[in-house]
Amino acid sequence: KTTSLHCSGCGIAIQTDDPQQLGYAPKAACARDVVVCRRCYRLTHYNEMQPVQMSDDDFSELFQTLYDKHALIVKVIDVFDVHGSWITGLQRFVGRNQVLLVANKVDLLPKSTNRGKVRHWLKKMAADFGLKPVDVLLMSAETGENVEDVCAHIDTYRRGRDVYVVGCTNVGKSSFINDILSRSAKDARPPLVTTSHFPGTTLQFIEIPLEDERMLVDTPGLINRHQMAHLLSPESLKAVTPKKELKPRVYQLQEEQTLFLGGLARLDFKKGAPASFIVYAANSVPIHRTKLSNADALFEQHVGTLLSPPTPQETLPALERHVFRLQAGRVDVVYAGLGWVTVQSDGVAIEAYAPAGIGVSVRMSMH
Ligand code: GDP
Repeated sequence: KTTSLHCSGCGIAIQTDDPQQLGYAPKAACARDVVVCRRCYRLTHYNEMQPVQMSDDDFSELFQTLYDKHALIVKVIDVFDVHGSWITGLQRFVGRNQVLLVANKVDLLPKSTNRGKVRHWLKKMAADFGLKPVDVLLMSAETGENVEDVCAHIDTYRRGRDVYVVGCTNVGKSSFINDILSRSAKDARPPLVTTSHFPGTTLQFIEIPLEDERMLVDTPGLINRHQMAHLLSPESLKAVTPKKELKPRVYQLQEEQTLFLGGLARLDFKKGAPASFIVYAANSVPIHRTKLSNADALFEQHVGTLLSPPTPQETLPALERHVFRLQAGRVDVVYAGLGWVTVQSDGVAIEAYAPAGIGVSVRMSMH
């Protein structure tokens, strides 16, 4: 039930029913003189940012406001799901503002992956997407790797301006901001965020004061409908989400062979000289190799059991076929949110399958 009260932090209408939705406050809190929603409460008392989400439409509306601002835009993406977490529409909204591209979750990449090369590769990917970031940085909000460096770069590139942090849901934006908040807490500076800073905050934008009266603004995470998260049960989602460094799994395949990534993705090697296929997916996703001629039957019989995730209870959209002719050299076949397969070949014909709605694409290889 929406009350007539508004949060004195972010201004949102207070509701007392759904703790997962914006504006929630427990009933008891509504009797206080100053009512704040749980999100603002946790921010002020625990220095903890809770994620908020928004749809494409809300996103467009909110981001119109960015166009006329003088700000540094920090765009956070997930290095494990670059395509799925990109936010293709952002360029339209940034105006003349600089964008700093920060790829999070770098802890997931094999240690052997050359970080400099990944940055270079991301620059090229950005160019392909029509974005020219002022810099590209890697970090892990989880392990803290490089977070300080990212903060230092933000401070340099913002040149006295406000900072807007944008990203899709699940890229680790809240983890990053919480990390910033806890760092400044450790420095024993005056409390970085106090309620008095909130009035006037644009609805759903949380402003964190910086040292020079400027703001670091956390924006709601954009819900990307193509992300695996919207299709899978929580259990399956857990299985496909990597938590540790990816262990590349290498297969030498002949034509007319097939790889299954659980029961969620399938890659048919249709035609070409023997080639190597290196799978980068959560270690808990089992890989099965079979003859192409067996693949349909194997899937029919074993999806949900041998080929899992999904779980036996789950019904996903039917697998959709994507046909590719890969150029010679190293190319990644990407299943958004699930991982990718690096194919090293003289040029081969493949077919890639994933449940309808999951983005399947080919890109130049990250490695
Ligand atoms: P937000 O929706 O962008 O605010 O993302 P969250 O901060 O809530 O993080 C989403 C998920 O990614 C959580 O399960 C985090 O534990 C995880 N996560 C965040 N940062 C990292 C990281 O640097 N590495 C890894 N492996 N996981 C991360």
